[in-house]
Amino acid sequence: MNGYDDMACTTTITTNTPTREENGLKLSLTDKPIVEIIKEAIHPKAPDDAFYICNLTQLVRKYEEWTAQLPRVTPFYAVKCNDNELVLKTLAALGTGFDCASKAEMGKVVNIGVPPSRIIYANPAKMASHILAASAMGIKTTTFDNAMELHKLKKLYPDARLLIRIRCDAVKAQCQLGMKFGVLPEEAPKLLDIAKELEANVVGVCFHVGSGAQDNAVYGQAIAKAAWLFEIGRGLGFDMNMLDIGGGFPGNAGTEISDIARVVNAALDEYFPEGCGVDIIAEPGRFFVASAFTLVTQVHSLREIEDSEADGGKRFMYYINDGVYGSMNCVLYDHAVVTPRPLKLAGGDASGGGGGFGSSGGFSNNGQLYDSSVWGPTCDGLDQVCSNSLLPEMNVGELIYFNDMGAYTIVAAGTFNGFPVPTIQYVATLDTWLTIKALRSAKNLFVDNVPVFTKAAVGCNRDAVGWGMEDMLHPQLNSTFSAY
Ligand code: PLP
Repeated sequence: MNGYDDMACTTTITTNTPTREENGLKLSLTDKPIVEIIKEAIHPKAPDDAFYICNLTQLVRKYEEWTAQLPRVTPFYAVKCNDNELVLKTLAALGTGFDCASKAEMGKVVNIGVPPSRIIYANPAKMASHILAASAMGIKTTTFDNAMELHKLKKLYPDARLLIRIRCDAVKAQCQLGMKFGVLPEEAPKLLDIAKELEANVVGVCFHVGSGAQDNAVYGQAIAKAAWLFEIGRGLGFDMNMLDIGGGFPGNAGTEISDIARVVNAALDEYFPEGCGVDIIAEPGRFFVASAFTLVTQVHSLREIEDSEADGGKRFMYYINDGVYGSMNCVLYDHAVVTPRPLKLAGGDASGGGGGFGSSGGFSNNGQLYDSSVWGPTCDGLDQVCSNSLLPEMNVGELIYFNDMGAYTIVAAGTFNGFPVPTIQYVATLDTWLTIKALRSAKNLFVDNVPVFTKAAVGCNRDAVGWGMEDMLHPQLNSTFSAY
């Protein structure tokens, strides 16, 4: 064995998925259950490079959840969170607007056919060339939180529609933003006076309570403050017609926005009742994409450390093919805590209690879990993905996957030490695909160059298959990897 080629998947899966070429790109069409689709995605080689599964159906579900919970609030998806083109196209087809922070983000969204009226340039500190680009693209709505920005806009984009961004911080958030952006509400009237003197076109108020906010009540407080500023703005003669309640909504599997929605809807009813002539928008990022992406990595090296004090008498260090310099930068930048899940090859609970690892599959495991750390592929000691995880004993070649990896991951990934950013494979149900296609032609939002797009499971009961990675990945991969 040379130790490398032998890691290729040797299973004999036959692929009879119909494919066709569309504008030079492969389009896979199949009605098979999702598990078969993913088997074929991995076939015929075990993945030496990390990759993502993007479940477009999950995006559609999140959109449905949003419209059900916050029917009066139009989501303007925050592109910074994940600028994957198929994600943007899917959300555009569903009808979201977009929050962009830069010229490049605005260009990307305009290029897929989104009208400028559905884009907000929501960066309160803007470079001149980016303001001019917004103007050239016809993107009129933007934000400000200080006098200098008003002067800049007056000079470069005098008829821009301006939202004053106020600071209103969640008590607890994964990423606080208030230390950088937002005028304190009590100082906002003074800023509106300056806007009046400069004859700026102030049309509303925005805020962002912090990303990954854990404080539902703050939305109500911020909306009340915005309403107070609406009155002051109207008193100054501004046509106040837009409220932007920002982002901060949770997105991981198992989270819900119903509690936040109750607070927001009640505050809107009180301060901005239906028919009041104010458009209500939000800028959710992680809400839409976090749960739609699963990262699949491979253990390429490991160290076993004798430790008489550790459970089982030893500890493990696993080295995988993506890390904090790659798409797991979320560990550093987004303060994310990621959960490694060894690929479950046969029934049982992979992450707790042992069992569940096919004994024929090469996991030298009898239910014992070991204190383990997981490391990225670079030569930097900082490149640690998680420090203290309980994992079964694993072999080189086995897979570890991470759920909820769609937010603030790939978008900020680099290739330090020459390790590639993971590629993405797409899955969706046939229903999703047909829906998106219909919307696409109805709204003419897409150019017709969809990347490999795999349709799955007509009538597939997704609750039955669960849509977890254990349902998706190839149950026979273990036999391949155990050959190492
Ligand atoms: N809008 C702005 C201005 C932001 O800075 C951010 C995130 O930093 C977002 C929206 C998206 O926030 P979230 O992902 O918490 O919804």
